[in-house]
Amino acid sequence: MLDTQGTIFDSFRLDNKVALVTGSASGLGAAIAIALSQAGAKVACHGNRRAANETAAEIGEHAAAFRADLSSTSGAEDLFAQVKQRFGRVDILINNAGTILRAAAEEVTLEDWQQVLQVNLTSVFQLSQLAARDMMSRSGGASLSVGKIVNIASLLSFQGGIRVPAYAASKGGVAQLTKALANEWAAKGIQVNAIAPGYFATANTEALRADETRSRQILERIPAGRWGKSQDLAGAALYLSSPASDYVTGTILTVDGGWMGR
Ligand code: NAP
Repeated sequence: MLDTQGTIFDSFRLDNKVALVTGSASGLGAAIAIALSQAGAKVACHGNRRAANETAAEIGEHAAAFRADLSSTSGAEDLFAQVKQRFGRVDILINNAGTILRAAAEEVTLEDWQQVLQVNLTSVFQLSQLAARDMMSRSGGASLSVGKIVNIASLLSFQGGIRVPAYAASKGGVAQLTKALANEWAAKGIQVNAIAPGYFATANTEALRADETRSRQILERIPAGRWGKSQDLAGAALYLSSPASDYVTGTILTVDGGWMGR
């Protein structure tokens, strides 16, 4: 993908690429979808409770909105088929959709555990497999990038968290899956990386931000001294989606205001 001609800025362009961003009706996914479109990609915007119409409308004619429930084992296949039908291909897959259920570990039900694991980990594997097969159909070998997969991990890919055992297990799994897929698919021209966001002000962290004590404790530990804004993730997502990162695979990039370094 990376051309030896042109400037470094050209290597961040996504012209003629089709990106699927799961969970892009809101939060981090919406910011990523908009950023990729600004770099030239056509974007498939996905939502669960509703199609990602608002994000697609903000992007304009180069976007389309889809709806699929990834807590169902057939959700990934359903979503991918819809996107293929509309755009014909997927060059960039951003596995961003995620869910979190907070409860003491001894009280978590098997049903809740399985729902979190299905949405956060199993559907990531399913979509990655579908996208990789599509990308490999255009494969030109190890020296030519044919696709990018970016998984949204978490600080709980590294740490255990409190009252979120299924979430921590799923995000730990996402980090390992990222490396496993990167190892297998590097020679086929597919780079697989992850971003581990720190604490961002989205629906995902609403309960934490509403808890005065936890919110203060978290803020005190972030060297940057503030919660992340969705746009703070856009640069990392674009980098890992673009030819600028063609020799980067299997990495987990933290975007956390310094949390992990502390
Ligand atoms: P968010 O606004 O709640 O976004 C989560 C997205 O995932 C929503 O669009 C949601 O769609 C979708 N989703 C949830 N359940 C789904 C299902 N069953 N099927 C398909 N899609 C589903 O929160 P966010 O913070 O932007 O989260 C985005 C990603 O970042 C998640 O993977 C999250 O774990 C990760 N993350 C967030 C933070 C943070 O501080 N915010 C930190 C680390 C990692 P619906 O609303 O329609 O259900």
